Amino acid sequence: MRSCIVCSNKANKLELIRLAIVDNNLFFDISQKIQTRGYYVCYNLDCINKITTKKKKFKENFEFNKLDNLNRLKENFIKYILKMINIFYLKKEIIIGVKDIITSDDVEYVITASDISLSSLKKIESLNVNNLFKNIDVTKLELGKSVNRAYVVALGIKKIKDLNFKRVLSQYNILFSQE
Ligand SMILES: [Zn+2]
Repeated sequence: MRSCIVCSNKANKLELIRLAIVDNNLFFDISQKIQTRGYYVCYNLDCINKITTKKKKFKENFEFNKLDNLNRLKENFIKYILKMINIFYLKKEIIIGVKDIITSDDVEYVITASDISLSSLKKIESLNVNNLFKNIDVTKLELGKSVNRAYVVALGIKKIKDLNFKRVLSQYNILFSQE
């Protein structure tokens, strides 16, 4: 268990972002493997916004570029999400396209492309899927690439047993869904 330097909330380290200091820069150690003293912060903007104000030592001695760090984290999340979609696709756990998602009865998660048309999105939303991710910054082309298609506007995942993947999706949503 580690605790957040801002709110002191205790959690497994995978549920927190690791902060490392390299060359007087404070940054997100996404791999959690950089060999320096590590600090941890919650996966939410409330805590991230207070990193340098709460911890005096950080404010006085280190640079922290929040936007850069968040962008890098986002890129990493997207890379990971696309990789996992490809793995699920190879295991035949992915349902591709609006029509097939609508007619399937075992879709638990739906991910839509950022450039999906409004009418397709409305169809998906009318399904009331519990876990709809429509804010992940991935285009039709990128989503298509992960399942060997030219493009894909939406895809469904039957059931996610991979806890890590579930965690990443929810962390992504917490940090980036309001954009
Ligand atoms: Zn916190």
